[in-house]
Amino acid sequence: MKNSIQLYLLCFLLFATSCKIQAQIAYEKIPSDRLEAAFESYKEPTITHRRFKHADLQPLIQKHSAAFQIEKLGESVEGKSISSMIWGKGQTKVMLWSQMHGNESTATMALFDLFNFLEASDDEHEELRKTLKSSLTLKFIPMLNPDGADAFKRRNGLDIDLNRDAISQISPEAVILKKARDDFEPEFGFNLHDQQIYYNVVNTPKQATISLLAPAYNYETEINDVRGNAMKTIAGMNDILQNLIPGQVGKYDDAFEPRAFGDNIQKWGTSTILIESGGYPGDPEKQYIRKLNFMIILNALHQIATKGYEQYTTAQYFAIPDNGFQLMDLIINEMQVNVRDKLYPLDLAIRRRESENASGYFMTGSVEDLGDMQIFYGFETLDATGLHYTEGKVYPTAFESVDKISEAEAMDLLRQGFMAVKVKNGEARQVHRLPILVLKTTEKFTGGWTTGSVPNFFLAKDGVLKYGVVNGYLIDLENPKKQEFRNRVF
Ligand SMILES: [Zn+2]
Repeated sequence: MKNSIQLYLLCFLLFATSCKIQAQIAYEKIPSDRLEAAFESYKEPTITHRRFKHADLQPLIQKHSAAFQIEKLGESVEGKSISSMIWGKGQTKVMLWSQMHGNESTATMALFDLFNFLEASDDEHEELRKTLKSSLTLKFIPMLNPDGADAFKRRNGLDIDLNRDAISQISPEAVILKKARDDFEPEFGFNLHDQQIYYNVVNTPKQATISLLAPAYNYETEINDVRGNAMKTIAGMNDILQNLIPGQVGKYDDAFEPRAFGDNIQKWGTSTILIESGGYPGDPEKQYIRKLNFMIILNALHQIATKGYEQYTTAQYFAIPDNGFQLMDLIINEMQVNVRDKLYPLDLAIRRRESENASGYFMTGSVEDLGDMQIFYGFETLDATGLHYTEGKVYPTAFESVDKISEAEAMDLLRQGFMAVKVKNGEARQVHRLPILVLKTTEKFTGGWTTGSVPNFFLAKDGVLKYGVVNGYLIDLENPKKQEFRNRVF
């Protein structure tokens, strides 16, 4: 009798153990070359740059109507549809939403690559896909702010920052996101953004190409299981990234913002992961960063499906270095500036910011700071020791139009000390690619070296002009390098 009880217990234990093994597929890290191969096979070919519009995405959403459950969740302020796409049959629910800031489109591109990957079948990724499908139910909301996206601006059609509208929900887009979370009750959430290209890994010259955060749910920045699981998943994502972009991953600031979605969704019980796509050298359209997004999101979904994140610790999350904001487009060191007949050696820190225009976008240079700029790093740095700040002039004879000025002519005029030319025809705000200021509605230009000034000036040595700084672009007058200018007509 005793023996048969023992046998029964043994059988029960064996049965229970095998059940557990079946319910949870063992975690094995996906090699990054496999993640990369998946991207290369399934990248959405119709998206080629970061300024795609709401209308561009609608046929791409419909393309997936067989494999995904598509639902219109509502409309933006300007009446554009916001849809969700559901895929998978698993118990663990994960929600991913992108582009609540209209001009932050990198992850949206990666989501459409991911849709192609998830919909495919019968390839070398089938096992991974099956694991995801049987363990997870994924709900995607790509482009939460279509009005902002179409204008390529951060805010929505009410000029509200949706990431400060999680509580009041003044905006229809905020109502949609909150309701989607409440209806779906996901265990994990991905809040997908872009950050300025000037973010670096703190106290290093390396751009923070990807920054990650498990947002705080209170001012004390405490850690419960919900936030802890997000941290562990991030540690696994960082593992992949450090092989691809060593030293270029930052930990985003975790100061609690009571009105933000990420912070509140964490608070409401969803393990929330923020991905911020920054800049990468030579990738202005963020196509490489799009690939990184695809790879880390796919990896994270696999970690969640297999509970692979449990192999990581919150300490590994905290070991990711903090973000800094120490990058500048141009740093000019020790330029001589004459003030009241006295020379001062000034470092100048310059950024060029994008503005949207009907014909594309243009840059506006600005002196961010000056004095001792040694804690900043420039994408480009000039040692201006012995060079003197010199003002430029306007060329007196007007040209017919921008198109009638060649780059060589513009360079010649710069060498003669002219910073600007006038044109008879054309429109203000028209984008041009010349290395000189172009004036249509004004006879004068502004420029200077103080904070907030547009950096338009020359640098001269013993009275000979050596460099032009035009709208914050540095131009070596003797040996001009090839560079792309995005200036506007004034
Ligand atoms: Zn954002």
